[in-house]
Amino acid sequence: MTRSHHAPNTLQPARHWATGGLCRSISDPDAFFPTGTGASVQQQIDDAKQLCSACPIRMACATTAIRENYEYGVWGGLDERQRRYLSKVPAANLEDGIRRSWDRRTWDPYFDAYAKRTVQVDDGHVLWTVKNTSITVLGRNWTPRQLAIWVGQGREPHGTVKTHCGHPDCVAAEHVGDAVVRMVRARQQSADTRSHPCGTRAAALRHKRRAETLDDACLDAYDEYLRAKYAKDRDRRAAKRQVAA
Ligand code: SF4
Ligand SMILES: [Zn+2]
Ligand SMILES: [Zn+2]
Repeated sequence: MTRSHHAPNTLQPARHWATGGLCRSISDPDAFFPTGTGASVQQQIDDAKQLCSACPIRMACATTAIRENYEYGVWGGLDERQRRYLSKVPAANLEDGIRRSWDRRTWDPYFDAYAKRTVQVDDGHVLWTVKNTSITVLGRNWTPRQLAIWVGQGREPHGTVKTHCGHPDCVAAEHVGDAVVRMVRARQQSADTRSHPCGTRAAALRHKRRAETLDDACLDAYDEYLRAKYAKDRDRRAAKRQVAA
């Protein structure tokens, strides 16, 4: 896509103050200036807002864009329509208004569709509350688990989305994974195993952390770890007693 003809002379004034802005690392200058209408443009706007949501200078960016009437593009996590609305809000209420507009439900249709139909239960699990398990968002159908990938990862799911937490009905964003999540996890695991093979303290603690059964080599390493830990505690207590005496 080429830069639209009316896109921004607003890009220039922002540059000098937006030094810490995340969008400076985006090489496509159009990413923050979607033009037109329709699902793909809406998706582009939402993507830009998603990036802004992690930007350390989002509030400064938003207030400047509103105060200086930047007309086009996404600034400070706000689209053109939101900024036009907020420009009429009294200065004293502006920051509150901006925070309300940042609410993910107002700009992320996946999040909204998911939030409306889920409930959080114990241990961080999340359950689907309605019968319908095919939800249309931006013209396409999604299962609850696929929506959870959108919510957690901000991207389209790849391959089968499975629940990893052991709760069969859970659709918590952090408890499901698709092919990409599984690949990243497997890579991480094999890197861990290479740098700390079984029989080392790190490997033993890794098994513990993941609630895995310890193999013999790691059982020995874990025993060793506990002995060292208790010996240290004993020394410390002995030292304290000496000081007290
Ligand atoms: S808030 Fe968004 S537009 Fe503003 S500097 Fe950060 S990433 Fe860029
Ligand atoms: Zn779960
Ligand atoms: Zn091991």
